[in-house]
Amino acid sequence: MSGPLIRMRSVTRTYGSPPTVALSHADLDVAHGEMLAIVGPSGSGKSTLLNLMGTLDRPSSGEIRIDGHDTGAMSDAELSGLRAHTIGFVFQQYHLAEGVTALDNVAIGLLYTGVPKAERRARAAVALERVGLAARTRHRPNELSGGERQRVAIARAVVGEPALLLADEPTGALDTRSGETVVSILAELNAGGATVVVITHDLQVAGRMPRRVGIRDGVLSTGERVLAGARS
Ligand code: ADP
Ligand code: MG
Repeated sequence: MSGPLIRMRSVTRTYGSPPTVALSHADLDVAHGEMLAIVGPSGSGKSTLLNLMGTLDRPSSGEIRIDGHDTGAMSDAELSGLRAHTIGFVFQQYHLAEGVTALDNVAIGLLYTGVPKAERRARAAVALERVGLAARTRHRPNELSGGERQRVAIARAVVGEPALLLADEPTGALDTRSGETVVSILAELNAGGATVVVITHDLQVAGRMPRRVGIRDGVLSTGERVLAGARS
């Protein structure tokens, strides 16, 4: 594979009329195997950026390539296919199915890949083991702590072994200790080869990432000033 996994060039996203600029002329490359934090205050455009990277949304202008694919030239169905095979998502509020066991919640992550049900469950069990929840496979979300729910959500995101894991404020609803466990699991997945992008407004979480990109008022910044800028 050559070239970055994510390549964004002058990506702008505006909402409404008159337009609110949520993201302005963003240039960003994320290499295969990287782990980075996108850090900025509330309303700075972090989720907008993540939704664009994840092809859940399309830019108003600019170019986004995922693993070499020019997403602007792809149909919605083609983008769904790209997501199903290449991208896993983790959100602040877990988005688990209530009343469904951890095992089946994780197996849902393989629903659109054509894997038969028995194998979906077998692979879900392995994914839960990877996040340290082998003893919780039959628990339902309301029988799990917040940190455990987020680990189920991570297992669901990675059960199909996507090249790219996108996490939007994955520790935002957790206490410090559960948050640290989640960050450690993301780091382990990265060590195993996954490219991981973590969106956060938490400077502690951002500080544990090997690379940080700042965002403020829809404008990206890089380098040493990112954390200082996010603090002010
Ligand atoms: P963050 O995730 O950093 O809190 P967002 O990307 O959600 O920020 O939002 C960035 C800006 O874009 C905010 O000013 C927000 O109000 C605006 N915005 C986000 N989504 C929409 C939308 N669907 N319609 C209109 N404005 C939006
Ligand atoms: Mg957000």
